[in-house]
Amino acid sequence: MELSELEKELLIKTFKRVTENDVVSWRVAVRAQIDQTMTEAAAQTIMARGVAHSHLLCASSDSQLSNAASGTLSALRGHLENLGSVRGVFDWGYGGSKEPAIWRELGYVAHFSKRKSIRSEAEALQGRLTEMGLDCFIVAEMPALPAITELSVCRLIPRFAKEMVVDRLPVDQQNGLIYGSITDAIKDEKLAAEAKSTIDGVFEHLEKMTLVSRVNGVRLCWEWSGFVFTREGINVARDLEEQIRRRAKEDARVAPGIYHVRCPACTRTEMVTTVDFDPDRPVRGWMLDFADKFKRLNWSLPFKPSDVGQNIVCSHCQTVLIGTDNRFLSGVLVDQAAETEDVDGRKIDDEELLRLVDSGKSQVEIAGIFGCSKQAVSKRLKALREAEAVA
Ligand SMILES: [Zn+2]
Repeated sequence: MELSELEKELLIKTFKRVTENDVVSWRVAVRAQIDQTMTEAAAQTIMARGVAHSHLLCASSDSQLSNAASGTLSALRGHLENLGSVRGVFDWGYGGSKEPAIWRELGYVAHFSKRKSIRSEAEALQGRLTEMGLDCFIVAEMPALPAITELSVCRLIPRFAKEMVVDRLPVDQQNGLIYGSITDAIKDEKLAAEAKSTIDGVFEHLEKMTLVSRVNGVRLCWEWSGFVFTREGINVARDLEEQIRRRAKEDARVAPGIYHVRCPACTRTEMVTTVDFDPDRPVRGWMLDFADKFKRLNWSLPFKPSDVGQNIVCSHCQTVLIGTDNRFLSGVLVDQAAETEDVDGRKIDDEELLRLVDSGKSQVEIAGIFGCSKQAVSKRLKALREAEAVA
C-alpha cells in the first residue's frame, strides 16, 4: 500500500510534535475473578436465588478485599508460571499493585503481558492464551495526548482550512491541537461532509498500514477524534523526512535556470520558472509565470504570488505540483533547452559526434559545434550507446 502525498505530509508534520515515547503499545491481560473465602461463599449460598449477590459486596473491609485480590493474583501467577509455554511472556511488575477500591470496581485481578508495539502481535498472543483456556483481553497503553486531531488535519488542507471557525473550540496552542468535531468548525454541510470523508479515509488507511491508531475523546464537552502513532509509524515518518532531506540536498546541486513546468496529470507545459526560482527554497507563487505563448492570452495564475506548497497547482487542470517538502514533484521541472529542441538529435551527425567524443572533446564543446544544447548531445550519445549494446 502506497502513502498519498497528503498522508506523507501529515506523518512528517505530526511526528515532529511528539516525542519518541508518545506511541501506543499493546498488552494482553489475563483475568481471574477474585477468589472467595469460605465465609464469603457461605454467605452467597444463603442468599435467595435470583437476588443480586457478590462476594465483593460481602467483603467487610478494604483489607479483606485487598487480601483476597493479592491472594488471587499470586495464585494466578503460579498457574501461569506452571504453563511452560508462556515463559517470558508476562511482565509481573505491571499493573499488579492497584488499590483495593480499583479491584472492587473491576471485580477481577489481572496479569499483563510485556508491551507489544504491534497490535497484531498482541492479537496473536491473545489467541494463543485463549486456546489455553485463559480469560484474556487486549489493553492499549496510550500516550497522554493525541498526536493530531481531525480538526488539526483540516488546518493542513487549504480548501477546508479557509472555511474553519474555531473561536468557540478548545485549542491547545502548545501542542498544535484543535479539539471538537468537523461539524463544530465548518458551517457548510457539504464541505464538512467532504472534509470528514477525506480525513476518515486518511486515518483509516494509515491505521490499516499499522502506522497509527485512531483515538477519540472529549475535551470541555467537545467530542474529538484523532490518532496516536505506533512505533512503526514513527519509524516510517522518520524515514520519509530523511528521504526529503536527501532529495532537497540533491536538488540544491542543480544550478537554477529557467525551466518549463510540466503538469504530471495533463502533461501540459503552460508555465515556466521565473528568475526568482531557487531550488534551495520552498516554491512560492512568484517563482512561476506563464510561458510566453500563454502570457498573451491574459490569463491569471490559479495561485497568489505568496502562495506556497499545496496551493501551487497546474494552470490547466489544478493538479498540485508541489510535494510535502514544498519542492516541485519529481519530473515537473523540464529543461527548457531540451524541451524546445529537436530531441531526436536530428541536428546531430552521429559519425561526427562519435569522432568528436573519441578526440576527447567535452559535451559542452560538442554542443557548441553542432549549435545545440549539452542535453541534446548527452541524450543522443546515450541513445547511440544503447543501440550499440543491443547490437
Ligand atoms: Zn495539468
